[in-house]
Amino acid sequence: MKLIDIFSNDFPVYTHYIMGDNAILSNSSIFRKSYMPITHRELPSEIAKLNDKNIKSLLMFCKRYGDFGYEDNIEEINFSPKIDWIWSHVNTVQFILTLAFHLQQKDERNIKRTIMKYCDYNSTNHKINFSTSVKFKASIKSWSYNEDLSFLAHQILNDIVNENISSVKRIVNMKKDGIFKKTFIFETLFEVTYWLILDAVEKCEIRKCDQCNIPFIINNKRQKFCPKLEFQSESNCALLYRQRKRLEKLEENVD
Ligand SMILES: [Zn+2]
Repeated sequence: MKLIDIFSNDFPVYTHYIMGDNAILSNSSIFRKSYMPITHRELPSEIAKLNDKNIKSLLMFCKRYGDFGYEDNIEEINFSPKIDWIWSHVNTVQFILTLAFHLQQKDERNIKRTIMKYCDYNSTNHKINFSTSVKFKASIKSWSYNEDLSFLAHQILNDIVNENISSVKRIVNMKKDGIFKKTFIFETLFEVTYWLILDAVEKCEIRKCDQCNIPFIINNKRQKFCPKLEFQSESNCALLYRQRKRLEKLEENVD
C-alpha cells in the first residue's frame, strides 16, 4: 500500500471581497485560486500587521489569502466571517507571536510587559477571543509573583494555541488504486496560523523584523525582515529598510 502524507486542505480565494453587515462578504461566483495556507509561513506576521483602523488592508489580505473562515460544505455556503471574531483573533495572534518571540529571547522584562498589556482588557476594543480569555484570566490569577514568569508565559501560550487548534481534524482517505492519503483538515485561516506559530516556537524560528518590528517566522537563518509575499521579488520591509538607510546616509553627508 502506498502512503501519501498531505499536510492540509486547500482554501478558496475569490476575486472580490467587500465589507457587508459587520462581516466580510466574497463574490463567490468568481473563483480566483485555491491554495494550501499551511505552506505560507508569512501568515502569522501578515495577520499581526492588520489593524481595525485600516479596513482596506483587511480586504487586500482577503484577496491574497481568502476570507478567514473556510466554507467547507454546501450548508455553510452563506457563512461569512464576522468582523468582531476576526479582530479578536488578530489581537490574539499579535499577542502570542510577540509573547513567543520574547520567550525565545528569554527577555523577562518584555514577557512581563506583553502579558500586562493584554491583561488590561478594558483598554482594548477587540479583546482576545473569549473562550481563550477565560483560561488566560485563570492562568494570570493562579500565578504568584514568586513563580517563574516564563512558566506563566508558556502556560498562556499552550492554553491559547491548544484552544484554537482543537477543531483541526485528521482524516485518512483510501483511493481505488490503493493509495492511502492522510490529511489534516483546517477550517479557518486562524487554525492554520496558530499551528504555524506552534511549529515555529518548537523550532525557535521567530524573529523580529528590523524594519517594522513585528515578529515573523523565518524561512532561513539569515533572514532579517518580514518574508516577501508570493508575487514579490523582495520583501516590502527589506526595500523600505534599504531606502531608509540610503536617506540617512545622504542626510549625514549633507551635515
Ligand atoms: Zn517587517
